[in-house]
Amino acid sequence: MPRDSKTSERSAVRVAEPDTSIDINIDETTGKGPTDPRIRCPHCDWSPQARDRWMCKCRHIWNTFDTGGICPACLYQWKITQCLSCQKISAHSDWYA
Ligand SMILES: [Zn+2]
Ligand SMILES: [Zn+2]
Repeated sequence: MPRDSKTSERSAVRVAEPDTSIDINIDETTGKGPTDPRIRCPHCDWSPQARDRWMCKCRHIWNTFDTGGICPACLYQWKITQCLSCQKISAHSDWYA
C-alpha cells in the first residue's frame, strides 16, 4: 500500500467569520477614550485615562493598562500599579473591577 497521501483534502484552518455588522458604540458618558471604564483605583476609585502614563524601571513610559501591566520595551510584567491620583500602590489585578 503506497503511503502517498495525495488527497485533495486540505486541512486549512478556517477562520470563522462572525457577522460583520457588529455595532461598536464606544460613546458612553463623556467620550473618555479607549481605556476600559471598569479599571479604577481600589483605594480612591480614580480611573486611568488613555493619556495617562507610567514609568517602568527601564525608564520606558507608557500606559500600563494598555498592555495589562507589561512594559512594551523590556517586557517586564508589573504585578503592582501605582495610582496617579492617591499615589497608593495596588496589585495590578485589583484595578480591574
Ligand atoms: Zn520596561
Ligand atoms: Zn487611587
